[in-house]
Amino acid sequence: MSEEKSTKQILKSIAEMREQVFDQHSGECPFCRGNVPPEIIRLRATFSCPHCGNILKVSGVYEIVIRLTAIAIGFVIAGMVGFDGLILFCSGLIIAPLLVIPVWRVSIFFKRPFLIPSSEGVNTLNLHR
Ligand SMILES: [Zn+2]
Repeated sequence: MSEEKSTKQILKSIAEMREQVFDQHSGECPFCRGNVPPEIIRLRATFSCPHCGNILKVSGVYEIVIRLTAIAIGFVIAGMVGFDGLILFCSGLIIAPLLVIPVWRVSIFFKRPFLIPSSEGVNTLNLHR
């Protein structure tokens, strides 16, 4: 009996996690659940929620995915240009930083990033007022 119950609970919490990961938190303010428009979301800086004014930033996981995607595209471009071996590898890494922003701009409209409260506060606060 109790086993059945815990299985149900596990299934329920998995369903809840799925919801959180795939729907609820993406593009939403973690404080007020307000919808944060993609135009004001910054990849490398903090920004404040237009609804409650709390300072937010993009989840580090999302940023890593963006960077890895940029590196992968960098290698593909270097390969298309005709580079290979070590030169392909190096030029891919050189191109990658230039691709981060385009990849970011495109991806943000397909899948909005998870927003988390910014812990840095003081340093970057004044820049984006
Ligand atoms: Zn908010």
